[in-house]
Amino acid sequence: MIHYSSCPLCDSKDTGLFIQTNDFFLTREPYSIFRCSNCGFTFTQDHPDESQAGNYYASEEYLSHNDSSGGVTGTLYRLARRIMLGRKRKIAEIACGITRGKILDIGSGTGHFLAEMKRSGWETIGVEISEKARQYSASVHGLDVIDPGLIQFIPSSSCDCITLWHTLEHFQHPFRYAEEIHRILKPEGICIIALPNCSSHDALHYRKFWAAWDVPRHLWHFSPSTMGFFADKAGFMVKAVKSLPPDVFYISILSEKYRRKSLHFVRGFLWGSWFYLISFFDRRKSSSLIYIIQKKA
Ligand SMILES: [Zn+2]
Repeated sequence: MIHYSSCPLCDSKDTGLFIQTNDFFLTREPYSIFRCSNCGFTFTQDHPDESQAGNYYASEEYLSHNDSSGGVTGTLYRLARRIMLGRKRKIAEIACGITRGKILDIGSGTGHFLAEMKRSGWETIGVEISEKARQYSASVHGLDVIDPGLIQFIPSSSCDCITLWHTLEHFQHPFRYAEEIHRILKPEGICIIALPNCSSHDALHYRKFWAAWDVPRHLWHFSPSTMGFFADKAGFMVKAVKSLPPDVFYISILSEKYRRKSLHFVRGFLWGSWFYLISFFDRRKSSSLIYIIQKKA
């Protein structure tokens, strides 16, 4: 277990219990989420170390969204994925101001996003911890995806764009990754980080049942203000913050399920619609946020 006696972000000793929750996804084990009184950084306290973390990922399930499953669900899933991949590509191309270049995706999973970028003419490289996912990326998409231990060999100032789609919150050493990102990114390059937002309307509503706590897989629970501190500490500045709308529906439905409410799909959809609507008035309260960051001049 990893215990933090001070804030991992600002090093203040002034941290304390923020919320007690459970691993509702897999083991039902209890976990404490701590918050720093100085900078507001929120983190999972006493989480499994690197040698144990793998036990908390139902790896087969992560890979089970294969391309051959039939039926309405399979077809809808693939359709939704196509739409989302196209949107992510647009977000990256607009943020970078180019439609061709070199992109690194950290935590590239089964490689569908990089495959979309490659089809569109980008030069791609992926970093992925799961060996099965790396093999899948290579055999199905023909992608070059490396083990995280090899990230140090990616040349400095070589990438126009680096993306982390809901992966930074899983990493045991986020600051080490931030250093590598800073090194690998070209001076004018753009890094895109998508994360759950622990100061969102849905997080405040669902409290301990908020599905995006996802302990102990999620170790860090960012908000726009703590992402600002994190970026600054790593030598970046936040250029823009965008929301990723479909996440709020998924998170609300899952949170209702964890709360063991009847008709969780309907309730989650209705609450998700409400959170989606009110987030128009304050985007920084959206369930998930995409941070577009750039190196400081
Ligand atoms: Zn702090």
